[in-house]
Amino acid sequence: MSWWSYSNYQDSKDDLQREIAHRKKKGETFVAVEAPKGNKLAVKFWGQSWQRHLESYADYESRLPRGRSYLRKGNVYNLNIDKGSVTAQVAGQSLYEVSIGISPLKPAHWQDIQKQCAGQIGSLLDLLGGKVGDSVLKVITDRDQGLFPGPKEIKINCNCLDWADLCKHAAAVLYAIGLRFDAEPELFFKLRGVNYEDLVSQAADAVAQEPAAGNAVVIADDDISAMFGIDMGGALSPEAEAALTGVAAKPEKASKKTAAKRAAKKAAKKAAKPKPKAKAKKVAR
Ligand SMILES: [Zn+2]
Repeated sequence: MSWWSYSNYQDSKDDLQREIAHRKKKGETFVAVEAPKGNKLAVKFWGQSWQRHLESYADYESRLPRGRSYLRKGNVYNLNIDKGSVTAQVAGQSLYEVSIGISPLKPAHWQDIQKQCAGQIGSLLDLLGGKVGDSVLKVITDRDQGLFPGPKEIKINCNCLDWADLCKHAAAVLYAIGLRFDAEPELFFKLRGVNYEDLVSQAADAVAQEPAAGNAVVIADDDISAMFGIDMGGALSPEAEAALTGVAAKPEKASKKTAAKRAAKKAAKKAAKPKPKAKAKKVAR
């Protein structure tokens, strides 16, 4: 860069800062997306998967890196992720408005993914933390049939003069989205227009629909209590109980009663059999 082009660059940068300061004075907010200091941008599951997915497309591969340095310099402001759309402002030669439309997941596609993941995601925390098994991982990160949008589902708009589909400003915003998913993974699902709870409630439904497993639990619990004469309640950690029963939600009900207590109850019931009398009394009154 020669000295005069450097000074031009400096001028436009100063102009830009003045413009931002001016707009701030008028009440506009400018919140920069903070980029981490290290080499990597996104480091958690949803952010990294988003990033890797986009980098896997040749259309983007050559243009994405220019966005990285923009983001690192703190040039992306006011990132907003909503259903089907992302907006941000990016400081370059001037302040550019970037909007990125992402097609929502088609209902049939979403249902298909739910089916494929049914019963395999332990909790919302696991899902949002990316703690999922290999088969779920395969389903959701599948390049063509997974949850992440392909280039045809991404419509990029920037008011700069770069005619390329993906200018460096939009590339910076795409990376900023990944960073935001690191902090708020639920926004990924919001962007794609689906409710992430659907993936986990499918799991709960699948467990509820297996009465055989449920029965086996109770029998196993009673058997162990009866065989060894121990109180199962509190004898096992909740995790161990869950592993034994396969039902994490209500392991207490079945386990707190010992076989002895049950037997005592039965006996008491037998002894207090003449209940119909009480009924007759009521009728007489
Ligand atoms: Zn642009």
